[in-house]
Amino acid sequence: MNNSTIISVQNLVKNYGNFEAVRCISFDVREGEIFGLLGPNGAGKSTTLEIMETLRKKTSGKVTIAGLDLDEQPNEIKKIIGVQLQTSGFYPGLNLLELINLFNGLYNKNADPMELLKKVNLEDKARNKSKELSGGQKQRFSIATTLINNPKIIFLDEPTTGLDPQARRNLWDLIKGIRDNGTTVIITTHYMDEAEQLCDRIAIMDEGKIIKLASPDAMIDELVANGFERPKQVKAANLEDVFIHLTGKEMRPD
Ligand code: ADP
Repeated sequence: MNNSTIISVQNLVKNYGNFEAVRCISFDVREGEIFGLLGPNGAGKSTTLEIMETLRKKTSGKVTIAGLDLDEQPNEIKKIIGVQLQTSGFYPGLNLLELINLFNGLYNKNADPMELLKKVNLEDKARNKSKELSGGQKQRFSIATTLINNPKIIFLDEPTTGLDPQARRNLWDLIKGIRDNGTTVIITTHYMDEAEQLCDRIAIMDEGKIIKLASPDAMIDELVANGFERPKQVKAANLEDVFIHLTGKEMRPD
């Protein structure tokens, strides 16, 4: 990971009528990192994400993405980002190759559908319809669609919600692999273990503000340094470890 800034958000404000959903937040995302946006429902995560994705208008503030100004060059920004669509948006009757070709047409791209499916480990499902995929496979496919335009940055909004533990871990490996290939990843999640495993840095939002921004490690160290102790001894494994151990991560396709 290098340390140059790829996204800069300064004094971002979003009001819906009189309601202040995003209250003057500033943060940078570094090139090549997995950056997590965490916070309770209504904190302003999706609003912030959609503004960066050029899908929602901001009230004020300055956003720069890979050196491009959001106000002046939104179309240039669209070309270098990948946005994950809701899996329900895929035409259920088309197979994966047909869907990728459809997206190729929309993006005016020529991505090799099989190459793309290989990246997300779905080659053997190439001729299956999207409605025939499991939840984890659908999520992997939707991540594949973010890669069609070979983006510098991808945005993933709760990509593992509702998946079983194995499918989640497979998805974490996939997302880390995408990061390791040089793509910056912005992700929202409700799962703290996921954020801890996956994210290089995290911004915690609450009521439209960023209340903390650091690496998961630094956040935990700071809490402990301030005298926090867990109420009881923590076991060396948890129930999820038992589940994975019993069922085997690789044993069952998701
Ligand atoms: P999060 O993703 O953290 O759950 P959101 O960005 O979706 O938060 O929403 C932040 C706040 O803004 C919430 O209180 C939500 O009800 C409100 N909000 C979101 N979109 C709209 C909208 N289009 N019109 C009015 N209020 C909205």
